Amino acid sequence: MTSRYAVIGNPIAQTKSPLIYQEFARQTGQDMSYEAIQAPLDGFAAALAAFHARGGKGINVAMPFKLEAFALATDLTQRAQLAGAVNVLRLDGERIFADNTDGVGLVRDIRVNLGVAFRAARVLLLGAGGAAHGAVLPLLEEQPALLAIANRTVAKAHALGAQFSRHGNVVAGGYADVAGEPFDLVINATPATPCGELPAVPAAAFRRCGLAYDLVYGKGLTPFLRFARESGAGHLADGTGMLLEQAAENFFIWRGIRPETRAMIQELSTPLV
Ligand code: NDP
Repeated sequence: MTSRYAVIGNPIAQTKSPLIYQEFARQTGQDMSYEAIQAPLDGFAAALAAFHARGGKGINVAMPFKLEAFALATDLTQRAQLAGAVNVLRLDGERIFADNTDGVGLVRDIRVNLGVAFRAARVLLLGAGGAAHGAVLPLLEEQPALLAIANRTVAKAHALGAQFSRHGNVVAGGYADVAGEPFDLVINATPATPCGELPAVPAAAFRRCGLAYDLVYGKGLTPFLRFARESGAGHLADGTGMLLEQAAENFFIWRGIRPETRAMIQELSTPLV
């Protein structure tokens, strides 16, 4: 019998998830369907219950429901507990197993697809929102020499750093706190704003930077990537690989089989020009 999966978000029209998971299913020979569901802003729990009642086996959780899904879960992985938000649910009878795979997708894209080593590297993470929360533990598990977190609202960076301080060498503050410091890897986890505003990252951060990585995808050369290139970053990447790698991890959680991602990363990538 065909197993049903879906992504639930609001808005949802822009999602690439049906395309990605339908291709994964085809590639791995899985008998499954995948649909996009737009839930009202106050209707996530009802949409999830309705999908479950129709035989749904798992969902991806898109914005703005990642915190609500976390609260509804009965079984959480450690990384999901620490992130405080989830992006994937597996529905097992009455149990709702939940995980946050954004960070592992990010790390896998950088280490495996882009071939950049974390061990002994100085890593700068810009932002302290949902994506940054999911990224910190997987980043620290790669044992960088230092993970520095910088955010516009400094108190949020401090709270995020303090939450993970026993998991590795992490410091946190505002953008001024990293002035003059070079990093091997700079990761932007702030959104691309319509007016092209940049996070106030100092140019010196890119002086010896091997890779500048923007979680934003499908937008070509973002203001962050342009600034990184002008400031000396050796290589640039956007979040397309992260999107595909977290999807592959979700697929594994649901189906126990890991699809290939490289061809789809290429297909969905936008040139960084
Ligand atoms: P959140 O809204 O949770 O967090 C946004 C963060 O960016 C906050 O730290 C916020 O700072 C900061 N920020 C927002 N605007 C500015 C600005 N103008 N200048 C400086 N800092 C700013 O967003 P998410 O963490 O969920 O998402 C971040 C980005 O990552 C999005 O573009 C999203 O699409 C992308 N993403 C990509 C994924 C992928 O698979 N490639 C997966 C998940 C996310 P403050 O705390 O001061 O408000």
